[in-house]
Amino acid sequence: MSPGHDEVVMTAEVVVTGDAAGTVYAPGEVAWSGDRLVYVGPPRGRTGGRRIAVGDGAILPGLVNTHNHAAMALLRGYADDARLMAWLRDHIWPVEARMTAEDVYVGTLLACLEMIRGGTVAFADMYLHADAVARAADAAGLRAFVARGLVGDGPEAEAALARAVEEARGFAARYPLVEGWLGPHAPYTCSPALLERVADQARLHGLGIHIHLSESVEEIREVRARYGLSPIALAQRTGILGERTLVAHGVHLDAEDIRLLAESRATVAHCPVSNLKLGNGTAPVLDLLAAGVNVALGSDGPASTNTLDLFLEMRVAAWLQKTLRGDPAAFGARQALALATRGGARGLGYAGGVLEPGAPADLVAVRWSRPHTTPHTDPLSTVVYATQASDVRYTVVAGRLLLDDGRVTVVDEDAVLAEARERAGRLTGRP
Ligand SMILES: [Zn+2]
Repeated sequence: MSPGHDEVVMTAEVVVTGDAAGTVYAPGEVAWSGDRLVYVGPPRGRTGGRRIAVGDGAILPGLVNTHNHAAMALLRGYADDARLMAWLRDHIWPVEARMTAEDVYVGTLLACLEMIRGGTVAFADMYLHADAVARAADAAGLRAFVARGLVGDGPEAEAALARAVEEARGFAARYPLVEGWLGPHAPYTCSPALLERVADQARLHGLGIHIHLSESVEEIREVRARYGLSPIALAQRTGILGERTLVAHGVHLDAEDIRLLAESRATVAHCPVSNLKLGNGTAPVLDLLAAGVNVALGSDGPASTNTLDLFLEMRVAAWLQKTLRGDPAAFGARQALALATRGGARGLGYAGGVLEPGAPADLVAVRWSRPHTTPHTDPLSTVVYATQASDVRYTVVAGRLLLDDGRVTVVDEDAVLAEARERAGRLTGRP
């Protein structure tokens, strides 16, 4: 049987499937037809269809970023080295109040370019002007789970929630790879009554919930003083925690918090680099995994983390758990890759994160013919500890090549960079 003409065949020295058993083919081949993978295994040596030979490098599942505020790429480096609450109140919120939908569109597009170049195929976002986020993700060809950030209390917040629900429900019809979610910002910015209403609406309409919880010591103190509960317990009481809930950060957790997260089947979007840069500490990922909690990886917004490099996030996630336990064997490369792939896909409720026939054709190919990736004796180790975002040569989402041998195919990259610089200058007053 010869492959169909629409079949794309990609071969490489190594295929890292990302499955639970850690299966690797060396050499390997991945083939897809339309938006689905049709073959993953040793090279079959067939001809026909389009053939892409990566050569010295690896094909792996596309990476999944489960916590982002992509448009904040425009504010990259704008107010670094400040405390979280002061950073938000004195620097970020005043600029955000001036942001237009078009600013958010261009900022998100900039972030999408960085994600495409860094091997990210799907991201969960929470931000203002969510329609512009969805439009940018669609233009870039990325899979996106987009929530409008919700804050406050009373009739105004209620009206914003109603609009957000309508908007979220409408995304999929307009943007095929975009799913609408609800994004109550955090328990220190949303009233418990709003959280309850969000939980009701999410259940009623089958929408996912994306929320910040237990990020900083300051937050824990504030929420405890106001409500006598931890942020996780408050989220549980208000109905926010569930199988379709992404808990961003989850740094400061006690045993009861971990029990509630496990019981609810929520996903923790671990953001190791953001937590380090903002001095917030380290999530107890090993304790969460031991309790059965699904853990995924997130970058947080590029104004916090400064990059959207999930290879860096994987590496740092592994380092931190080793350090927390004082044991380099406590958390390995395979576990780090699982957070960035299968953990993320599960948290977002889509079938990606692994290379196997029938799975979405969401994949990445990196080239390893450079000093920092030579030799690559252990492919999983090379992916997690040595590969950099800039080694990505191909990024494929739903069968479409967004990055083709290092060239972005979806938008005019130079034009986006120029416009992003201009808008960032206007917003921050620092051209
Ligand atoms: Zn965040």
